[in-house]
Amino acid sequence: MQEICSLTLESLQAWMERNGEKAFRAGQVYDWIYTHGAQSFEQMTNLAKSLREKLAGAFLFPALKLVRTLESEDGETIKFLWELADGKRVESVLIMSASRRTVCVSCQVGCPARCAFCASGKEGLLRNLSTGEIVEQVLHIDRYLKTKGERVCHIVFMGMGEPMENYNSVVEAISIFNHPKAFLISQRRITVSTVGVVEGIDKLAKEDLSVNLVLSLHAPNQHLRKKIIPYARKYPLEEILMAMERYAKETKRDITYEYTLLADLNDGREEAEELASLLRGKQCTVNLIPYNPVDGLRLRRPAKEAIEEFREILVDAGINTTWRYTKGKDIAAACGQLALQNG
Ligand code: SAH
Repeated sequence: MQEICSLTLESLQAWMERNGEKAFRAGQVYDWIYTHGAQSFEQMTNLAKSLREKLAGAFLFPALKLVRTLESEDGETIKFLWELADGKRVESVLIMSASRRTVCVSCQVGCPARCAFCASGKEGLLRNLSTGEIVEQVLHIDRYLKTKGERVCHIVFMGMGEPMENYNSVVEAISIFNHPKAFLISQRRITVSTVGVVEGIDKLAKEDLSVNLVLSLHAPNQHLRKKIIPYARKYPLEEILMAMERYAKETKRDITYEYTLLADLNDGREEAEELASLLRGKQCTVNLIPYNPVDGLRLRRPAKEAIEEFREILVDAGINTTWRYTKGKDIAAACGQLALQNG
């Protein structure tokens, strides 16, 4: 059964008309879901009982069941573990900083990219999430925040999965996040992170969306990148970088590169210098993320001095560099870690 949150307002209007109802009923359903926080069709009391029954017979709502939440010790990160209708599990993370409420959403169960350091890809791709399963992650967290007088204001596609490999659902979910009758979150507050799928990057550049695009770079050359990211075999680094520049030109968005620092693998002076010469003079930001340990992986987080030295080399080369100590370390908030824990 299709999730009601998979439908754009226009497609719900069309459904109403096909089913002998007035199109404006779609707006009422949208209001119940996205403004009034209804949690079932039953609660949509200004709709006739017959229409509520018709909707319940045609659509799944809600599609996500909350299994549990985990809050980090500093209270800045809350992880939500969801169960889907088929029993599979995904997670989202709410990140709270002084001024922002950001939700990190998943777009797939598992991940086809299988990066060496990442928990999400350990078992490969299990399935894509539907548009509604992506949208509901934000819907339920937004409802939770509203009880405290707050709202979700930023969304990042940095949870489980590779957005470019579930392209249509991701783009549709973005249009719902952006829609005035749904979340009204502006495109500049939505970020898609990709492992580097050239045709996906080019396609996204041509959408009527100007979301921020981040590339998970993790290495300064194709040889090392292939060791860390098996998916890199499909797309040479040079081609990915050119696609990122086309994206930036087309959408007028700045480019961000993410670089997960792994001790003795990609964190040396040599890699830092190579990265500096690769990016020198380019309008971009490098976001350094020290590796967040994942059970069963024999990788290590670099020492603080190594991270500092790496950063300084980039800064000295005039490259805009940020350094993020992964939030929510104590609750396994790195991508995919919670969904892999049992129970
Ligand atoms: N597939 C997409 C989005 C998911 S991963 C992509 O590859 O970009 C998003 C980011 O999570 C990656 O850039 C990586 O930096 C980070 N990440 C995942 N697992 C991590 C870990 N164990 N430690 C540090 N960063 C991690």
